[in-house]
Amino acid sequence: MRDEHRPAHRPTLGTVMPSPTRVLRLARRPRGLPTASDWSLDAIDRVPPQDGQVTVEVTHVSLDPAMRGWIEDRPSYLPPVKLGAVMRANGAGRVVASCHPDLAEGDLVTGRFGVREEATVDGRSVQRIDPDLAPPETWLGLLGGTGLTAYFGLFEVGDLRAGDTVVVSAAAGAVGSVAGQIAKLHDCEVIGIAGGQEKCAYVVDELGFDAAIDYRSEDVATALTDEANVYFDNVGGEILDAVLLHLAYGARVVLCGAISQYNSESAWAGPANYWQLLLKRARMQGFLVFDYVDQYPEARARLAGWLAEGKLRAREEVVDGTIEDFPGAFLRLFRGDNIGKVVLRLKP
Ligand code: NDP
Repeated sequence: MRDEHRPAHRPTLGTVMPSPTRVLRLARRPRGLPTASDWSLDAIDRVPPQDGQVTVEVTHVSLDPAMRGWIEDRPSYLPPVKLGAVMRANGAGRVVASCHPDLAEGDLVTGRFGVREEATVDGRSVQRIDPDLAPPETWLGLLGGTGLTAYFGLFEVGDLRAGDTVVVSAAAGAVGSVAGQIAKLHDCEVIGIAGGQEKCAYVVDELGFDAAIDYRSEDVATALTDEANVYFDNVGGEILDAVLLHLAYGARVVLCGAISQYNSESAWAGPANYWQLLLKRARMQGFLVFDYVDQYPEARARLAGWLAEGKLRAREEVVDGTIEDFPGAFLRLFRGDNIGKVVLRLKP
């Protein structure tokens, strides 16, 4: 008979030392762009896993624009990160101690570990990744939330059809670059909107988009001459308004994100041109990638297949550093410094 007081799976404590481990906490709610003093570093005792848990050495922290929303004190799809709490973050890592029957020391996994060097979490909350298929940074990007967001946004919300004209904003970014490539794979005409000539050249020359508009030097409403059947909107604000003027009859506007508004200190800019939805019998629909969690395995398998066949290209902007580098790396998203998925790599 099992002793109720003994864990069913004994932790492999060899690598979990009683020495401290570091975490990054939210010290203050930012006003506008987050600054270094909005965060604080702390050293805490390591926590050995209990029954069903694993301890993970965090090797990669995913940097996502949504994190800006998570630190606002307002109702959202997840509770706000509390002041003083460890910053919420998705990441990848290596299991260093396991009390979960299906996970062993050395397994590589992804999960919501937070901005910390080591995390002890419920084993059911992590996903094992195959490093032979792709490196951890790609499992946070094209094969992770990023790729899945592009996939479900296009197919489930955008109702993508062959021959569609698809316009994508933040086109050289993590989600946008995958969305545009998937649309190309489905015989669509794809027009990217991105900041700067380098990004525009990247999406056309390297990813095969049909055209790109540099919103920093061009007026999007004038430069966009095609009618969009699908607009995959990552940015909101003025660019959303400009594209609304160019919808095809029955268009689908996919509200994926609104990064242009995330640091706004005043009311968010709403779409002045929403009346176009009526004129064009179009619809605008928001979504969260989590809405499709039941379909993740199938979607991930398709994305992995396209990646293996060379039909999709994954690009990551890997920042090597420690959790102290999180605040600076996070800002890259809002300055538009990145092409592809931004990942902070703590360990090779
Ligand atoms: P990206 O890799 O696209 O990085 C953000 C990019 O946004 C920057 O590189 C920059 O590109 C652009 N940007 C930043 N500020 C502005 C601005 N003021 N105006 C216009 N563009 C701006 O990030 P992700 O791919 O991770 O995320 C893209 C969007 O998708 C975000 O809005 C995010 O919140 C959303 N998202 C939604 C999910 C969902 O479930 N609905 C899940 C995951 C992401 P540039 O230089 O071209 O301006």
